[in-house]
Amino acid sequence: MRDYLVRATSFDNKIRIYAINATNTVKEAQRRHQLWPTASAALGRTLVVGAMMGAMLKGKETLTIKVNGDGPIGEILVDANAKGEVKGYVSNPNVHFQYPDGKLNVSKAVGSKGEIQVIKDLGMKDFFTSSVDLISGELGQDFTYYFAKSEQTPSSVGCGVFVDTDNAVLAAGGFIIQVMPGATEETISQLEKTLENIKPISEMIHEGYTPEDIVKEICQNEPFNILSDLDIRFVCHCNKDRFARGLISLGKDELKQIIEEDKQAEIVCHFCQDKYHFTEEELKELLKSIS
Ligand code: ZN
Repeated sequence: MRDYLVRATSFDNKIRIYAINATNTVKEAQRRHQLWPTASAALGRTLVVGAMMGAMLKGKETLTIKVNGDGPIGEILVDANAKGEVKGYVSNPNVHFQYPDGKLNVSKAVGSKGEIQVIKDLGMKDFFTSSVDLISGELGQDFTYYFAKSEQTPSSVGCGVFVDTDNAVLAAGGFIIQVMPGATEETISQLEKTLENIKPISEMIHEGYTPEDIVKEICQNEPFNILSDLDIRFVCHCNKDRFARGLISLGKDELKQIIEEDKQAEIVCHFCQDKYHFTEEELKELLKSIS
């Protein structure tokens, strides 16, 4: 099944819902970064939320999510845009912790002290940056807190990744429920009750639930409208030119030193792990372009 998300409304347009299946996207992240299961879950959950937050943007707007906790995974960094393109990495992909019941212990990998920072490039001169403290490190709860605190939109964020014992990502997905002004107390308590009782999101996706099925599950017997959908994929737009510019920006002296000592350069893209090789001749050309 393809990766996509849907935008929906329900409860007289007072509730907005995003629901996503991002299994292939997280599979691709796992393959590129050789993530261990708990690292797949941590990066995967952030990719899932990032893709949905990207879908809240318009046109060429982009956003970056940085999760910096005190756990061994280090930084989790995810970039997303309004076109359904998402990419990301973690400082340490070889992290794996489980709870006694076998569930992945994301909180231990991420840490429960630290912060989530969201940087939005809305195409204006300044970036819009906001951050909140981590409260659990499991990420769903932390992003729920982020929306309440930074975006002043009471929301509920669910995100989950199901990983097999051989590291294979079997399912990844999530939802964001946003409460619009004018929603009744009755609606909110009905949703809270539903959320307490529905299956974990990773289980739903693993059982074959589509994003539309997830919306239906959240709305229960309430009618809903699917407004639109958006294909989601792991995409990195890096290329050799961009890294060449990076080498040039190191400056004459440092570039000269690389040529003398290494006689070549290999640069690995943090986001996608693609490798770019520069020969001695290519490096000399770059050096010339500085002079
Ligand atoms: Zn790349």
